[in-house]
Amino acid sequence: MFEAKHQDQQVLNVEVGKNNPNNLEPFWMPFTPNRRFKKNPKLIVSAKDMHYTSIDGRKILDGSAGLWCVNAGHCRPRIVEAVKNQVEEMDYTALFQFGHPKAFTLASKLTEMLPHDIDNVFYTNSGSEAVDTALKIALAYHNAKGDSKRYRLIGRSRGYHGVGFGGMSVGGMVANRKQFTNHLPGVDHLQHTHIPELNAFSAGQPENGGVEKANSLIDLIALHDASTIAAVIVEPVACSTGVLVPPVGYLERLREICSENGILLIFDEVICGFGRLGTAFASDKFNVIPDIMTMAKGITNATVPMGAVGTHKNIYDTLMNGPEHLVELFHGYTYSGHPLACAASLATLEEYESENVFERAKSIEKKFENSAHSLKGLKNVIDIRNIGLVAGIELATREDGLTKRAYDVFDFCFKEGLMVRFTGETICVSPPLIVNEDEIDQMFSIISESILSVK
Ligand code: PLP
Repeated sequence: MFEAKHQDQQVLNVEVGKNNPNNLEPFWMPFTPNRRFKKNPKLIVSAKDMHYTSIDGRKILDGSAGLWCVNAGHCRPRIVEAVKNQVEEMDYTALFQFGHPKAFTLASKLTEMLPHDIDNVFYTNSGSEAVDTALKIALAYHNAKGDSKRYRLIGRSRGYHGVGFGGMSVGGMVANRKQFTNHLPGVDHLQHTHIPELNAFSAGQPENGGVEKANSLIDLIALHDASTIAAVIVEPVACSTGVLVPPVGYLERLREICSENGILLIFDEVICGFGRLGTAFASDKFNVIPDIMTMAKGITNATVPMGAVGTHKNIYDTLMNGPEHLVELFHGYTYSGHPLACAASLATLEEYESENVFERAKSIEKKFENSAHSLKGLKNVIDIRNIGLVAGIELATREDGLTKRAYDVFDFCFKEGLMVRFTGETICVSPPLIVNEDEIDQMFSIISESILSVK
């Protein structure tokens, strides 16, 4: 019956075995043009440190840290061991009205790393859940203060905050929004910070337009009145929409306006956190402290799904004011603080510390920046943006359609043994933070060859 049901569907032209699926059709792949992928699948079967192995046995250099998440490199023994031990010791316990020690230990360790006064941590299973949790905490905080008029949530054009209804609504990627018609009410958006006419080919933070762009919040306050706005959410660096680095002064000014108007500032650090910018968090890099921070990805080095929200102690304290026998925040997930995720995260934090992973990222970022900008002048390269160990190389749109050239570069890179990502027309590079100089040379030389080879 199984055979009959699937007999007409796309099959993979390799011998069926332990790692080889014989039918690609049933799996509806996320954020992937399914039909194109299934005609020309890119299947990965193992990973170690800086490399993947593809199903046809090729070594692929990881230029994207998976999905910006494998910061310490793949299958690090300390993390693998911790997850193995945990699954044998205790697979699961609920965290509603119960606890397990590692959840508390991890929260203590995270709050030691987090900026000053971000003293409490709420666990989720993904970045999207962390974003929706952060937005809900912001609303609950104002409610607890008796200020329920503050209900508006402000995101930013070209922001990405995951795929929950909250994250989609405050997000600013049109493709992720238009298909789903119904969004949260009471949401508005700041202007994005991408000003290529002033800032193209900036190395690191662009110089121009930061304060002016942050002042678009003043316009929204003038329109809606500050007394109706609960929170502003931004990624310190908008990575998923093509590496948009905040111009000098932007985040500082946003912080100032939020503080002056009683609006909570949320930094979505799902990508920026855990060393991507050469510091523990973007907040440290830019020296701007939000009221709420979201985390995910690098929190477990991507071994086990996990997200988290860090909150200013004042937010937690405000919510701890009601009767002691009542739940203070009617929110949580079956897998909030899952034992495997906590074990993976504790081992990951140890790995970051003992291998000096963030310092390594910082020490190599200049080399990375120079290599990225060495592509300036190649045909069709219209902008290069970078910060920390993230770079975006933007290509001109080809006459035959949006993203077609970027896809061809991405595809060519994979054939040449390099995994990168593309978003719109931008090739994104964000390797594991253990990358060395030779690997950086290899990455950018493959990208350069790809750009020169495609139409
Ligand atoms: N927020 C940001 C800034 C992200 O970059 C992402 C994912 O890339 C998310 C949220 C969503 O995270 P997840 O895919 O784990 O739900």
